[in-house]
Amino acid sequence: MKTPCIAACKNNGGICSGCHRTMAEILNWSKMDDNQREEIMNKLSGEQTTHACPECGEANHCDIAAGKETCWCFEVEERELDKKHNICLCRKCLESKALV
Ligand SMILES: [Zn+2]
Repeated sequence: MKTPCIAACKNNGGICSGCHRTMAEILNWSKMDDNQREEIMNKLSGEQTTHACPECGEANHCDIAAGKETCWCFEVEERELDKKHNICLCRKCLESKALV
C-alpha cells in the first residue's frame, strides 16, 4: 500500500507534522481504495491543486473549491488566523499557526 508516511508522525492539532495528512486521512487510509489514496497523495505533493497558499505561495488544494462539500481543513483543530485571507492556507502554514 502506498503511503506518504515518513515515520515521523506527530499529531499537530489534527495534522501530522511528518506527512501533513489529517488525522482522519491517516485513520481511514487503510480503508480507502487506491484511487482515494492516490488523490490525497497528489494533493499533498501539489500535483492536484486549486490555488496557491496565500502565505507561502505553494500549491494548495481546497476540496470546496474543487466542488466537494467538506474540506480536509474542517477536520483539523481551529487555528488563530488573521482574517485577511479568504482562501485556505496550505497544510504546512496551517500547522505552524497557534491553536485557538
Ligand atoms: Zn502555505
